[in-house]
Amino acid sequence: MGIKLNNENELVVNWHITEACNYKCYYCFAKWGKQKKEILNNDKLIKKLLDEIETLPSILNRLYLTRFDKIRLNLVGGEVFLNTSKVTKIIHYAKQRKFSLSAITNGSRLNEELNKLIADNFDSIGFSVDSLNEQTNTEVGRIEKNKSMNIGKVLDDIGSIRDLSSSIDIKINTVVSSLNKSENLSSFIDRVKPNKWKVFKVLPVKTSQYNVSESDFLKFLDRHKDFAHIISSEDNDEMTDSYLMIDPVGRFFQNSSFGEEYNYSRPIIEIGIDEALKEIEFNAQKFHKRYENKQIKLVEVM
Ligand code: SF4
Repeated sequence: MGIKLNNENELVVNWHITEACNYKCYYCFAKWGKQKKEILNNDKLIKKLLDEIETLPSILNRLYLTRFDKIRLNLVGGEVFLNTSKVTKIIHYAKQRKFSLSAITNGSRLNEELNKLIADNFDSIGFSVDSLNEQTNTEVGRIEKNKSMNIGKVLDDIGSIRDLSSSIDIKINTVVSSLNKSENLSSFIDRVKPNKWKVFKVLPVKTSQYNVSESDFLKFLDRHKDFAHIISSEDNDEMTDSYLMIDPVGRFFQNSSFGEEYNYSRPIIEIGIDEALKEIEFNAQKFHKRYENKQIKLVEVM
């Protein structure tokens, strides 16, 4: 066990590189309208977008008196690892710009080649796991060709990635809804021993059908209190307007406080990232809170 100081100068930018996914989770908010072309299909556009992202720390430092000097590009989807050659290119261009890398995956497509790519290039990798139960995963929509998510495979892939990289952080993301609110994930978390377990209350972006009450959400957290030292939980309010998120066509987007739709900027590569930033409802206070917390927090790493 060691103690690691969180990187206080690192700005995290979440790029949803694609809408495509092999699962169909009912709560999935990765829906931006497939009619437009995704940037990951065009090398020139990928480079242009990453060049714009590279200027973000100095823009935010000027606007909010932060002291960012590094970028961590967090690749999210859809499923990031559906197309190996496309994600490999993005990784290559991000590394050329000295970005740190992380990603969130459902784990279903990982194989030897991708595990090595992750171990060689990523500072952290997050797996989204809501349930250990086949029936629940089927109901959530974590199912492909009649086969629900394979938890054993997730455990094997995490083991392989750790064998290849001793320094990589493993994270687990769990969305709590009415479908899994009574479940106990302790056996899985105990085996994985992730560096961080992010537990989210389901956001009513697409449907409020499986909403969970605040008290059931707290009960879920309480049931897993043995892992309190690695859990970071966020409710709906904390999640609204406080992430820097870019969609597959290169627009900033934010969850709207008022409804179930997104607020969008115009495309970053058309108007520049500083102008695009002005076009979203960006909550500087929450943003500050998120990063201030990081700056004073010591995190225990198992
Ligand atoms: S695995 Fe993630 S991207 Fe895919 S459908 Fe589920 S929530 Fe959406």
